[in-house]
Parts: sequence; C-alpha cells; structure tokens
Amino acid sequence: MCGTCNGNSNSTADEAAVATNGPTTSNGTHPVQGQPKSSPYQSVQDYLSNVGRYKIIESTLREGEQFVNSFFDTETKIKIAKALDSFGVDYIELTNPCSSPQSFEDCKTIANLGLKAKILTHVRCHMDDAKKAIETGVHGVDLVIGTSSYLREFSHGKSMEMIQKTALEVIAYVKSQGVEVRFSSEDSFRSDLVDLLTLYKAVDNAGVNRVGIADTVGGATPRMVYDLVRTLRDIECHFHNDTGCAVANAHSALEAGATHIDTSVLGIGERNGITSLGGLESSLKLLSIHAKAILANPSTYEIISPEDFGLSRYVSISSRITGWNAVRNRADQLGLHMTDDQVKEVTAKIKQMADIRPLAIDDTDSILRSFHLELQQA
Ligand SMILES: [Zn+2]
Repeated sequence: MCGTCNGNSNSTADEAAVATNGPTTSNGTHPVQGQPKSSPYQSVQDYLSNVGRYKIIESTLREGEQFVNSFFDTETKIKIAKALDSFGVDYIELTNPCSSPQSFEDCKTIANLGLKAKILTHVRCHMDDAKKAIETGVHGVDLVIGTSSYLREFSHGKSMEMIQKTALEVIAYVKSQGVEVRFSSEDSFRSDLVDLLTLYKAVDNAGVNRVGIADTVGGATPRMVYDLVRTLRDIECHFHNDTGCAVANAHSALEAGATHIDTSVLGIGERNGITSLGGLESSLKLLSIHAKAILANPSTYEIISPEDFGLSRYVSISSRITGWNAVRNRADQLGLHMTDDQVKEVTAKIKQMADIRPLAIDDTDSILRSFHLELQQA
C-alpha cells in the first residue's frame, strides 16, 4: 500500500467489487478465476531447477566486511551470526583468519557459539591459510583461487597446472582434518571453459565437498549464468552486483541447477556488493504465491508479505505527503487510540515537521506518542 493513499479514492469501491466478483471484461462477463494458462510469474519448472531446494551461504561476515568503511567488532559479529542463524541460513562464512589477529579470534569465537548453521571461513587456496583456518575450529573451509588470465597474470602468477597441483594438496590436507572443503575459482566467467572443466573434474575426483564459481567482477548476465551453471550443475555461486544483476543471476543459477548461493544482508560487499539475502528470498518467495491470490485482489500492491520475513507491515508516515489513514494505521500499531479528527490533527503536525526536515520512524512515533499523551492529560 502506498503511504499517501487515504483510501477514499473512487477506485476503492470498484476494486472491492472486482475482488469479490473477479475482473470484468469489456462485454461485462467474468472470466474464470485461477492460474492463467501462461503468466510471467510462473516459475521455470524443469528437472534442472533447484529453485525449491537450495542452500544459503551467508557472507555478510566475510564479503560484507569488504564493503567500504564496514567495521564489525566481535560483539556485532556475534549478534549478526546469531540473527542469521535464527533466520535459518545453512552456512555462515567468515573473513580469512589470516587477515588479522582479531579475525582469527573472531573465527574461533563464532565457530564455538554452537549455532545450527555451519561456520565456514574463506581463504586463499594456500596451505598456510588452510592450516590457520583449521586451527580456528570452523566446520568448513572455502578455498578460492583466480582462474581467469587476468588474475593468473596480474594476481598470483600461477599456471593452470600449478593451480591444480596446489588445489589437490590443500584439499587433501583439509579433508584429512575431517573438515568440509569447497573449491572455487575466482573470476570464473572470464576463465577458459576447458580450463575450468579440467580443474573441477580434478578437484571433484579428489573428493571436494562443494565446488563454486564466482562472478568476481560482476559482469555476468542471467543468460550467461544459466549457460555456465547448466554445464557445471551442482555448484555454489557467488555474484557481484556491478551491473545490478546479482539477484537475477542467483535466480537464474538456481533454475540451471546450482545448489548453493552466496548472499549478504542488504547485498553489502566489495564495490556494489553481491546478491542480497532479502532480495533473493523475495524473488524465490514470489514463486510460491499462487496467481489466483493476485487475481482475486487486484488492489494488492504487495507481492511479498512482511510476515514471511518475521516483520509487520509498516507504511511510512515520515513525509509531508503522508495521508491520515496511514497515520491512523501506525497509531493503531502503537496502541494509541484516537478519533478520526484527532488523527487528522496529529497528521497536520507531522506534515509541519516534515516540511522542515527529514523525519525518521522514531521521530513520527514520538510525535504520535506525545500527542496521545497530551490528549489523555487534557
Ligand atoms: Zn565477492
């Protein structure tokens, strides 16, 4: 619902009638309600699609730490890890413990919180990093190495043969410690496909638990993702959002048979960030909404229910274009009982303030509360 709507427009009665009787065609007949034969909201249902069964690797505490100016102290990291765990993510990925002494300590602390989610750390495909990762007590180690010619030439300088040799040694070591291991290429979309397939076949034979691909530079499109994932299948995917495609690419990857998607809260990460946890969940949630429900109520502007995310609906009332019905809704949520005239009066006060400066939710709530208190004291 739009925050400026006062619910008294002429369309309301028409919409209510349509909601009851179904949409009316130009000749006055009511078409049969239900799922249309074809709809853009219908999901792709084929044997490849993993849209209904996928796992989240939540990387706010790794990729999110690479977001410009981001800083999480230990206490904040614990809070985030617990919140993600109660949200139900499958894995929580942490910054490389080699990054700093505190990163090492934080890995140990979070790995020992006893959360349901498995704790991973993301390290370079290097024996020193792998050993340090194992010391922290994490459940899994995510190994990563660049495979594109750009990264091979300008980052680590290793040939594909060297990469494979190192990968097999490090994977064998991590496995020998009884810890889950993933191998992922960096900049996969600018890597040679034959190189990738050769390398992935070798690490698969070495018994790696997961393999991953990453659109490190964020230039892939959903179509490219579909084609690459369909070739590689059971794979973890990491998408950067430089061209705004990170959620769409994740969705496309799942349709092509990917099994795991890396996300972060609000999509924070290096540069423009990665697939956002909320965006991905929303895009997938949408598929489970039967089109009948949308047809039955054309006045519905929300395709996702806030309750699906453990939230209640909040209609913004913090602007000069706020309508009094929206203010009434918020007052009711806060348990502040007022007559219509009183709500209109406090709406005028909110508009006055909003003309002067931007208001936050807390500002409008306190205007409502103090107005209500004055009414009671009068
Ligand atoms: Zn990344």
